[in-house]
Amino acid sequence: MTEKYIYSFEKGDGQNKVLLGGKGANLCEMTQIGLNVPPGFVITTKACLDYLENHQLPDGLLDEVKTHIVGVETVSGKKFGDRQNPLLVSVRSGSAISMPGMMDTILNLGLNAQTLTGLVEQTGDARFAYDAYRRFIQLFGKVALGIEDEKFDVHFATIKKQAGIKSDVGLSADHLRQISELFLQVVLEETGKPFPEDVYEQLNLSIKAVFHSWMGKRAVDYRREFHITPQMANGTAVNVVTMVFGNMGNDSATGVGFTRNPGTGANEMYGEYLVNAQGEDVVAGIRTPKPVHELAYEMPELYKQLIELRNKLESHYKEVQDYEYTIERGILYCLQTRNGKMNAAAMVRTSVEMVAEGLISKEKALLRINPELLEQLLHPQLDPENKERPVAQGLPASPGAASGKCVFDADTAELMGRAGEPVILLREETKPEDIHGFFAAQGILTSRGGKTSHAAVVARGMGKACIAGAEDIKIDVRSRQASVGDLHIREGDIITIDGSTGHIYIGKIPTIEPAFSEELKTLLGWADEFAELKVHANVDTPERARMAVSYGATGIGLCRTERMFNASDRLPLVIDMILADSKEARQDALAKLFPIQLDDFKQLFEAMSPYPVTVRLLDPPMHEFLPSEHQLEDEIKSLNLYKVMIHGQQVTLDTLGTQIALPGPFNLLNEEVINKAIAKKELMLKKVKELYEVNPMLGHRGVRLGMSYPEIYQMQIRSILEAAALCAKQRIPILPEIMVPQVITAQELIKVKSYVDQIQQEVERQHGIRLEFKFGTMIETVRACTRAGELAEVAEFFSFGTNDLTQATFSFSREDAENKFLPLYNETGLLEDNPFEVLDAKGVGQLMKMTAEAGHKTRPDIKIGICGEQGGHPQSIRFCHHIKLDYVSCSAPRIPIARLAVAHAKLLEDDYRIM
Ligand code: ADP
Ligand code: MG
Ligand code: MG
Repeated sequence: MTEKYIYSFEKGDGQNKVLLGGKGANLCEMTQIGLNVPPGFVITTKACLDYLENHQLPDGLLDEVKTHIVGVETVSGKKFGDRQNPLLVSVRSGSAISMPGMMDTILNLGLNAQTLTGLVEQTGDARFAYDAYRRFIQLFGKVALGIEDEKFDVHFATIKKQAGIKSDVGLSADHLRQISELFLQVVLEETGKPFPEDVYEQLNLSIKAVFHSWMGKRAVDYRREFHITPQMANGTAVNVVTMVFGNMGNDSATGVGFTRNPGTGANEMYGEYLVNAQGEDVVAGIRTPKPVHELAYEMPELYKQLIELRNKLESHYKEVQDYEYTIERGILYCLQTRNGKMNAAAMVRTSVEMVAEGLISKEKALLRINPELLEQLLHPQLDPENKERPVAQGLPASPGAASGKCVFDADTAELMGRAGEPVILLREETKPEDIHGFFAAQGILTSRGGKTSHAAVVARGMGKACIAGAEDIKIDVRSRQASVGDLHIREGDIITIDGSTGHIYIGKIPTIEPAFSEELKTLLGWADEFAELKVHANVDTPERARMAVSYGATGIGLCRTERMFNASDRLPLVIDMILADSKEARQDALAKLFPIQLDDFKQLFEAMSPYPVTVRLLDPPMHEFLPSEHQLEDEIKSLNLYKVMIHGQQVTLDTLGTQIALPGPFNLLNEEVINKAIAKKELMLKKVKELYEVNPMLGHRGVRLGMSYPEIYQMQIRSILEAAALCAKQRIPILPEIMVPQVITAQELIKVKSYVDQIQQEVERQHGIRLEFKFGTMIETVRACTRAGELAEVAEFFSFGTNDLTQATFSFSREDAENKFLPLYNETGLLEDNPFEVLDAKGVGQLMKMTAEAGHKTRPDIKIGICGEQGGHPQSIRFCHHIKLDYVSCSAPRIPIARLAVAHAKLLEDDYRIM
């Protein structure tokens, strides 16, 4: 039996999106639950893949198409290619994952000279018929025959101009007939062949064109950007749908809706419509549509039906839906539904409310939100104190505030964005081919189109600020400027847009960090209920620690003490410590650092009480605290010049006696002072030269410093334990953890542990208390992984430092890799991800797994976590859950993402696969 490539909407399996595409599966599902969908059928993605592979439609496909067209004819009572009562169809793409506007749709297919006259007679509306005809010729010409839009647009514009008409609506039947004829001419000129009259030929070419569009540049770019793999969506289905017309007069309309407000999440009717218009007019932003509430007055009965449609969609799909509908002469048809793309705030609010309404479970509420989306919630908002007045207002299409230089096309946006310039993309309206400009821009501003226009939908999906339909702004792409009244905005001028209010400002307006909403607290509270992994933060200061706690961190997984060393009041002391030429001199310098570190740790422990705080002992090579060799040489040169000047001054004074009164400051600087400065700089230079290493990151750093200069580690250990003692005395519950970096052998740990034991005894004796703390190691060398069993005899915890461990495993340095060859590796698929962002589960992960197992074997209650940057990445978190780590630690702003991701990791653990 030959394969079945086509399913009618009555028969197709609504669950099988991989085979039928999202649009097709939902058209089937909606038909089968009794919603009014125009009759039609789906050609499977399998057919698409076969076609792309063999460069021809699969055997028997065209026969199957015919059979199904006959089926549609029977249901609709119309006939394909028939002069009396012609059936017109749309040919629509749709893959398993929705890619709005990325692939092509052809409307009004089935029109030719014959059926056109039929349509005119049947509807008695020549204007309508010619309008449908010219749209079809252009769409078919573009999509199936590859003729550029401009070729048609010039004629359209000419006729409009000749007729002196501004808006398309003003065109008469005769104008549209002229346009159609010119369009047919364009097709003949561009392809050398007349426009196909045979309706089946039209259909076959269109099916092929839609299949082709799967591999079009736009679609391929989109899939790459959004990491849509063949497992997620492979090939596009083709939906052939009976045309219904929203442009058959004032009892007809077309619209798009969301079952809830996608900007705020509010449970209300939301959407836009146009009376007497065809579907794509709303989406393309050619006319600015009306808010759906007005339909309640214009067509009250249909508004009621629309509410009913909305309710049915939500109660069936149990998810916010984004739907398209058309009203043809008073009859409501549903043309599409899909899960609504919303911003993070709306996702969170709808999750919490749908649980309250009993529509979904807590698990579903968590799982429907991609953790990365929460990053948006930490996006800046305009400073409420701002007194600057907006110069114009558009529709608030995607929230968040953004400032940047104005650019007027996507290529420029991309160019400037790559150069690191914040830009705002200004267009009259955007099209799918502008997508690369969106990626590069901080925000998007359009002068036409509604909240469901292309610009709005895409920006919302990306979490970028967007204002649409700002009609007061005249955007002139050609002269690269915009104007509001008599105010001119040129390319490169800075503006600020607030996508939450629609306000547009000239210049850069200050922004503030957003607040953590109650809904987000509720949602993340549920996440915590399911999670097994704990979420800790990588922070170094008490302020950041408090922020991390407010985001829900339950510990500090990594406090880098060197960050404390770098503060301006400590650096001179640290430099003295490095320059010390004897142990005693070094201890003197350390003695001055001690009280400062003590205070740092005390504050940090207090801020994190009662949670654990993991403090890493000094890690970077010492030269990092000194100026560069080059800088020192420069400075010494200047000092020597200055010395000559001072000498000259001295000679002058000696020669002329005391007749000259010098201003105060000059008297301070005698040769002796300068000589001292020079000596110190020369000492630093000598030290820098001594410390020089070919590969500092593989050099004298980490625990190796602790071996060479025990007094440094001892000072740090003492300040940690002393701070712990002070907290204990104040009855502040704390849990310090001392962590040793760069370990390769248990011997190093034993050595450091011996310092710890000694200092612990001293501190306990001095304060008369018992100290509670843990001692452990980072795992960031390959050797540490292989010796984990032995390390665990000394270490009470392991923390994977997956940045260094990744460098060690791949044997390349992050900087060189990211700057030189990693992009190539990623683009050509030699490596799927950047292993410094996404944990390399197959390589580094295997070392981690082995290490964790060996660690547990030696010490069953060993605590194991990850503190590398990948610890805040959802996919990496799933791996950490899989190998049963105890916690992940990430930067403070990623805490909400990680909290949701650890819950996902638990809820989805059964279908985890290493990819
Ligand atoms: P997209 O995937 O870009 O949303 P669609 O296939 O949904 O593209 O079609 C584009 C526009 O054409 C939409 O506004 C849709 O509602 C409209 N449309 C598609 N098929 C029909 C039809 N059979 N009758 C009326 N309008 C249609
Ligand atoms: Mg659509
Ligand atoms: Mg490291």
